[in-house]
Amino acid sequence: MENGPHRAGRVFAETQGKCVEPGKDYMEQQNDRASWITGGRVRCRVPPPSVPGVPFRFVLLGAPGVGKGTQAERIAAYYGSCHLSTGDVFRSAKQLSEDGRASPNLLKALDYMRRGELVPDGIVLELVRERAGCMVCGGGFILDGFPRTVAQAEALSALLEEKGVSLTAVLNYELPIERLVTRLSGRRVCSGCRAAFHITTHPPRVDGVCDHCGEALYQREDDSPESIRVRMEQYEANTGPLKAYYSRRNLLVTIEAEGTPEEIFQRTRVKLDSLLTLR
Ligand code: AMP
Repeated sequence: MENGPHRAGRVFAETQGKCVEPGKDYMEQQNDRASWITGGRVRCRVPPPSVPGVPFRFVLLGAPGVGKGTQAERIAAYYGSCHLSTGDVFRSAKQLSEDGRASPNLLKALDYMRRGELVPDGIVLELVRERAGCMVCGGGFILDGFPRTVAQAEALSALLEEKGVSLTAVLNYELPIERLVTRLSGRRVCSGCRAAFHITTHPPRVDGVCDHCGEALYQREDDSPESIRVRMEQYEANTGPLKAYYSRRNLLVTIEAEGTPEEIFQRTRVKLDSLLTLR
């Protein structure tokens, strides 16, 4: 993995793929995203590297299964920005609710998420506002899974304007629907470091065990066939218009998501670097 040209993100880049020591906390080596995942007054113990004037602020668009999470990790390593996924926040609610630490918003969101339905805009927006500090973090951000509706996009624009920051680009990943369904149904995720695998295209070395940290792999509840169908329908209905919204604002960069994660990342990098050179 190459390091970015503009600044490090190096804590991440240097540890990615090498963290195989049993018992070692893989996520702690990277930006720990604690402010985003937990919200409230929590501060990141390992914040992204902060370089004045250069934070990159991206939004990722793409249907479930298109590989946004995998690309976000690579973009984070190369451009240094912090990977912020609303889905990760909702998934963490499960653990927080067991420990009695989840906010009422997170608890409400869990039922929608389990059914594969979109969480109502009001809950999502409150949750993002609670984490507005991440929008002005000197490390920049990569929003993954938010915004998902035009109403969310409008609220994000208002929030960024209020904070005096703007988006660098909106990266839109595209893949035919039948390929997406195959990807999702075979996906397995690490319960420890959240690394993603696929039972046929990217299997772990040992069945059911994470290559990176040795924790167990699991299938996400919302990767069941019924949830996948609901999520695709919702994506088409709600998220499609976002492309038009960001295209009108000259922020949309569309990338074909066919090929290996590295090929897709190189395509992303070429498009982004030429866009950044033009600005
Ligand atoms: P993801 O990991 O992005 O696929 O998100 C998993 C689930 O979390 C989705 O199926 C929704 O139930 C919920 N979710 C995540 N982000 C949003 C959002 N921006 N708006 C509504 N629901 C969301």
